[in-house]
Amino acid sequence: MSADDITPSAAQVDAAASGRPTHPREPHAGGSVGRLNWLRAGVLGANDGIVSVAGIVIGVAGATTDRGAIFTAGLAGLVGGAVSMALGEYVSVSSQRDSERADIRQETQELADDPDAELAELTALYEAKGLSAATARTVAAELTARGALNAHLDAELHIDPTDIASPAQAAGASALSFVCGALLPMLAILLPPARLRVPLTFVAVLVALGLTGALSAHLGGSDVRRAVVRVVIGGALGLAFTYGVGRLFGTAVG
Ligand SMILES: [Zn+2]
Repeated sequence: MSADDITPSAAQVDAAASGRPTHPREPHAGGSVGRLNWLRAGVLGANDGIVSVAGIVIGVAGATTDRGAIFTAGLAGLVGGAVSMALGEYVSVSSQRDSERADIRQETQELADDPDAELAELTALYEAKGLSAATARTVAAELTARGALNAHLDAELHIDPTDIASPAQAAGASALSFVCGALLPMLAILLPPARLRVPLTFVAVLVALGLTGALSAHLGGSDVRRAVVRVVIGGALGLAFTYGVGRLFGTAVG
């Protein structure tokens, strides 16, 4: 069978054009990458919420059995963490968006100033990807005819102008996922009777960490079992450490 006989099915072309996976068993194709990244960011945010608030409430529970004090500390950790996540995400997505916008402006200007040089540049990019000089010229010319700016943004800057993240949306999503995660250790430490608080929170947190670890490893296409073992051992050590610090300094100072 020669290369001439290989044509993509209409369904494949359609899927590729709309950003859906072009192959049934391929989670990372086309536009689904954006959605997967969002999901992963959400899982990581929840993970942060679980770990940091669990550390706070377990640490305080090591020092006192006062439910009010544990609740206040947990709530402060939840609010502070959500604000810090939102702010960090807002700043990072804003500066990424600013630099993408600047790139788009500059590319637009270059295309207006010297379209011939830009066509040559696009041709060179496709040659560098392994196409023959003649094919690269045809590809570059056809893509330029369909929309020079999009062709350059895609091949040169790897920007999808329809997929530029909103800083406020990213900030809200990351604060929300942090809060969802943080609620778990809060409930686990506040609901049970005093003597079961710490062991139940330990178990609930480790189970939840195992689940988020498995999910994010699965989404990232890495080994699920290794990720779970790593995150559960790390989480257990971290919680044991904060509980120990709380006990030690709680009795020493209080
Ligand atoms: Zn260009």
